[in-house]
Amino acid sequence: MENCIFCKIANGEIPSATLYEDEDFRVILDLGPASKGHALILPKTHAANIYEISDEMAAKAMVLAKKMASKLTEVLNCDGFNIVQNNGEAAGQTVFHFHMHLIPRYKNDGVGIQWKPGTLTDEVKAEILEKVKG
Ligand code: 5GP
Ligand code: ZN
Repeated sequence: MENCIFCKIANGEIPSATLYEDEDFRVILDLGPASKGHALILPKTHAANIYEISDEMAAKAMVLAKKMASKLTEVLNCDGFNIVQNNGEAAGQTVFHFHMHLIPRYKNDGVGIQWKPGTLTDEVKAEILEKVKG
């Protein structure tokens, strides 16, 4: 897609710190890392988000996330790992080309991927079960 920065990076038109590449994906270091080793999985074909990506590419992306998480954990000796994937502005997406964040975590690193737990009420539970399961 024209003017999509991640299309250009994924396909090598813009240079990047590439950790891994195959015919479908490029894995790069994030320019604004949440922690040491924060990387991004970029599909080489354009899909804006989880709603648009094909089942095949989504499946491959998850398998690659698993491989990269193991490799990064081994080489960085991190203590934990977050896989984050944002869809839509409201969810914090800023680049509208599907990507998965690989975020190594270190004890007491202060990285904030958190929310304040609410309460699942009976009413909302019933509403959602009804809507999703019909
Ligand atoms: P989002 O908020 O869309 O889930 O994540 C976008 C991520 O892409 C951010 O973590 C941001 O730091 C990273 N990013 C944005 N532009 C570039 C770029 O040109 N190169 C690299 N390596 N990372 C980028
Ligand atoms: Zn794109």
